[in-house]
Amino acid sequence: MSADRLEIAVQKLKDTGIRMTPQRYAILSFLMETLSHPTADEIYKVLESQFPNMSVATVYNNLKVFKDAGLVRELTYGDSSSRFDGNTSDHYHCICSSCGRIVDFDYEPLVELEEEAERSTGFAISSHRLEFYGTCELCKTEYKQ
Ligand SMILES: [Zn+2]
Ligand SMILES: [Zn+2]
Repeated sequence: MSADRLEIAVQKLKDTGIRMTPQRYAILSFLMETLSHPTADEIYKVLESQFPNMSVATVYNNLKVFKDAGLVRELTYGDSSSRFDGNTSDHYHCICSSCGRIVDFDYEPLVELEEEAERSTGFAISSHRLEFYGTCELCKTEYKQ
């Protein structure tokens, strides 16, 4: 499934007229394969040995290109750096308060809740964000030992 996602993403960039470079391809395929919602820094650290001339700025520029093309979602959390999600379908997140891990939580989008928000506030709602905080599976077992 992630391979398909990568192929589709590559094709979409091609259709948009965006030139593919080895670095761009590496960043894109990492994002399409990982479930970790990495920051630009984390992506840089994973790929820097492969591309010694690559800078963090290159990673940022590419993330912006992918975001503008609708291939990734940027998740912002206050003043901490943005995380990037290669899964652009509607889904929710569980965030570990202990290690910061973000795990996808697939659940039918709460459309009724958006409608209720529109009724109650008069807003034209375009999207919503819902996040769950707690202790992830790994941290839970660490505490038990
Ligand atoms: Zn954790
Ligand atoms: Zn996600």
